[in-house]
Amino acid sequence: MQDYLVSLSNDPRGAGLLKKLGLPTPVSLTRSVGGVVAQPLSGHVVLLVSAPDSYATKAATLALEAAGAEISTAVQLPTDHKLNIVLMDATGCSTVAGLRALYDGLQPIIKRLSKNARILLLATRPDAVTDPIAAGCARAVEGFTKSLAKEVGKQGCTVNLAYLEPKALPHLRGVIEFFCSARCTYVTGQSVTLHPPKLTLHKKPNTRYLSGKTAVVTGCARGIGRSIAHRLAEEGVHVIGVDVPAARDALYELCLQIGGTPLVLDIAEATAPDELAALIDNKFDAVDVVVHNAGITRDKTLANMTELQWDMVLDINFAAIARIDQTLLNRALMHDAGRIICLSSISGIAGNFGQTNYAASKSALIAYVEALGRGVAPRGITVNAVAPGFIETPMTQKVPVLTRELGRRLNSLAQGGQPRDVAELVCFLASPGAAAITGNTIRVCGQALMGA
Ligand code: NAD
Repeated sequence: MQDYLVSLSNDPRGAGLLKKLGLPTPVSLTRSVGGVVAQPLSGHVVLLVSAPDSYATKAATLALEAAGAEISTAVQLPTDHKLNIVLMDATGCSTVAGLRALYDGLQPIIKRLSKNARILLLATRPDAVTDPIAAGCARAVEGFTKSLAKEVGKQGCTVNLAYLEPKALPHLRGVIEFFCSARCTYVTGQSVTLHPPKLTLHKKPNTRYLSGKTAVVTGCARGIGRSIAHRLAEEGVHVIGVDVPAARDALYELCLQIGGTPLVLDIAEATAPDELAALIDNKFDAVDVVVHNAGITRDKTLANMTELQWDMVLDINFAAIARIDQTLLNRALMHDAGRIICLSSISGIAGNFGQTNYAASKSALIAYVEALGRGVAPRGITVNAVAPGFIETPMTQKVPVLTRELGRRLNSLAQGGQPRDVAELVCFLASPGAAAITGNTIRVCGQALMGA
């Protein structure tokens, strides 16, 4: 689905008209094409900046080199060189004076960023230090990141933060490859927290190890789920596609296209977990990835909401997910180092008018992934949530025109995201490169003002 303001602003005459009318002129966002490649940063010069006493610079250098990047420092680059990727190691920022490194390192280069540039900061996990000032300084990097993301978003640039501790350094590469590439088009102003995994099965955690895996994707006949199924299949994953009987034709057509296995199933049915388990047990032994994408809205203010509207949304968007996970985990139908990914929503973070039922269900998933993630960590299984903002899908096409227009514009990138933007984040979380990310909820919302 096309955003007419993006199309107009990329035509010189259209852009002039938009300016005259005082309308936003959203930049055309760079998106990745095709699957993940072995050296995704090949051909890119990365400006690497380090705060004094930082401990992640060596690991970041090795990760960048392995990803094919050419590394440079500010003094080595001509002053007219446009910067595409900037990585700042701020793990040394543990005093107020030390935070000055953020200003010294990044202020001089902001005007040299190219359109769609990527900035990634690394900081120490505040909960991993005991000194209150050091913890405060670590968290200060997040406020800095979010504000900078708002300042450079108009140019299509993204700014994100990875919190870590020394033990997580071996897991930096996947994180750098995602957040420094075109794959994180619509993810900006976010922080992820790395937890060193208790069980690692992959010696080289970052290359194309999704190939040959099996994934369940619910609600994949259309919208975001369809895009997730396509992206996973592009990476060589066998997809078990699940959708309701009403979507049978679209589901079969998709599975034919991607060589997947269709399963017509309403996840809210009491027998759904057993039916899914039986298919996995009979045909696949176990699965590696489960993407809980199926979700519904039944919007009404609480005063006008029926019991059925409340019950259906809570059941499909939350309870059904928990029932399926419980069945697959209890019956050993998920491989070790597996991945569970739930589709939450920014409504679950900020709340939304007319969505008490939907926001409650999507909020529930945020704590659910944290708690389940802790429980399955000994098996190396990660559990995360992805919280989309305004994504152009049939679901958001139903939103009234004015609300839809506000949803599109009220974010740092001034436009809606595409289903593929969500699919890229899901693919990254499903990959071995994300082994240290668990219990996180990552927004893919262009830094929507809602809940920011
Ligand atoms: P969509 O309505 O376009 O597609 C949802 C799919 O889920 C459909 O194919 C539908 O048939 C299927 N589904 C619904 N109930 C099901 C059930 N009981 N069993 C099996 N399948 C079922 O939605 P979308 O916009 O693609 O959203 C996908 C997910 O992302 C949802 O969980 C949604 O809440 C979440 N989300 C979307 C947006 C957005 O902007 N589109 C924003 C935030 C969160």
